[in-house]
Amino acid sequence: MSKQKKFILAENELPTQWYNIQADMTTKPLPPLHPGTKKPLTVDDLAHIFSKECSKQELDTTNAWIDIPEEVQEKYKFYRSTPLVRAYALEEALGTPAHIYFKNESTNPLGSHKVNSAIPQCYYCKQEGTTNITTETGAGQWGAALSYAASVYGLEAAVYQVKISMQQKPYRSSIMRTFGATVEGSPSLSTRAGKDIITREPNHQGTLGTAISEAIELATTTPNCKYALGSVLNHVALHQTVIGLEAEKQMEMAGEYPDKVIACFGGGSNFGGIAFPFMRHNLLEGKKTEFIAAEPASCPKLTRGKFEYDFGDEAGYTPLLPMYTLGHDFKPANIHAGGLRYHGAGVIISQLLKDGLMKGVDIPQLESFEAGILFARTEGIIPAPESCHAIAATIREALKCKETGEEQVLLFNLSGHGLIDMTAYDSYIRGDLRNYDLSDEDIAKSLDALPKILQ
Ligand SMILES: *Cc1c(COP(=O)(O)O)cnc(C)c1O
Repeated sequence: MSKQKKFILAENELPTQWYNIQADMTTKPLPPLHPGTKKPLTVDDLAHIFSKECSKQELDTTNAWIDIPEEVQEKYKFYRSTPLVRAYALEEALGTPAHIYFKNESTNPLGSHKVNSAIPQCYYCKQEGTTNITTETGAGQWGAALSYAASVYGLEAAVYQVKISMQQKPYRSSIMRTFGATVEGSPSLSTRAGKDIITREPNHQGTLGTAISEAIELATTTPNCKYALGSVLNHVALHQTVIGLEAEKQMEMAGEYPDKVIACFGGGSNFGGIAFPFMRHNLLEGKKTEFIAAEPASCPKLTRGKFEYDFGDEAGYTPLLPMYTLGHDFKPANIHAGGLRYHGAGVIISQLLKDGLMKGVDIPQLESFEAGILFARTEGIIPAPESCHAIAATIREALKCKETGEEQVLLFNLSGHGLIDMTAYDSYIRGDLRNYDLSDEDIAKSLDALPKILQ
């Protein structure tokens, strides 16, 4: 009785504009501040490290719709639209009356949603005459996506990969090198920031914070080199709205509208990507969809972090961003969802959370893998360890529906596949993985180092 249903858009129905939720927010996000002067940053300040166009998009609080350059639309067509799938088999296994849909962002050859922003970021750099691009990567999905996009536009890419992730996921480094990028484990000895960190802590395993410091240092000390970030920033979430804009049309094809939209949460780009286009209808038309961001219990910035200005990196090179944060020197446990090990949440999302327009939930590592394995066995797709958090949160909601008998429509984003994360699955199956409890004292310690701008 259960038959899989997939909804795909034709080429001429693909989005031609991204949705900029900043324009529709009643409370606008607070401005990013210069780390030295503590003054609000201008586009020109940001354009020292990012492409000019992305810097403009970052601070744009007035234009709700931003044109996707035609050349970028052409590249999107290589792999978009992505399927929206009704997960009948998962519903059946759970015995839930809920209708579960997922947007499958794992179908492109890079295997995650990250390429949606890598392409425009490299495109703008090329347009603006940049020759080199550098970035950080955790689990390696962003590094892989950026390396591919750099090769498309003939840019030279240098990637700093979190050391522990490099050991857990060696194939991702190989993928980056295959696309022609150079890859360094962070902290490395190739930058001052890296050397300082290693001197302080010789066995530092690296975090996204250390890798960002190194990449920014390279960008600011290399001529014609820009820095690209794969999450957290407003322009990254902007590019990701192609996910939600497509899903909106696809849900219409399915004749439904989501009661709950769910995504896993690292810095907020895939969450914002699927959520913002639907949230627009909450903001403008009074729809009541709920938005749930699923973060790892070991890195709980949304539920246990503090709303304060903080640095995006370990060394304090980035602008100060107003966000929910665990403190920029917070060292998350070595969970396998490398893409979710980041201390802060994006600026837009932090404001939305503060204003009660969305919520966060914490998922322990074992629950995430249990959910991922059920999804694999029912839907035939092995999800990225990051995406497993969204699946676990969806299953929680579906089981609530089973109790109440409510036929809710749940939509989650499958942000990537886990085919390069099989060592993580092996560890789970062998029983080698565990949950990490984080004490309030641990959190208080790293929050102590916050700059304290808001109080
Ligand atoms: C990077 C990544 C994430 C987390 O990043 P967000 O910016 O929060 O989306 C989630 N899932 C996958 C597969 C990733 O590669």
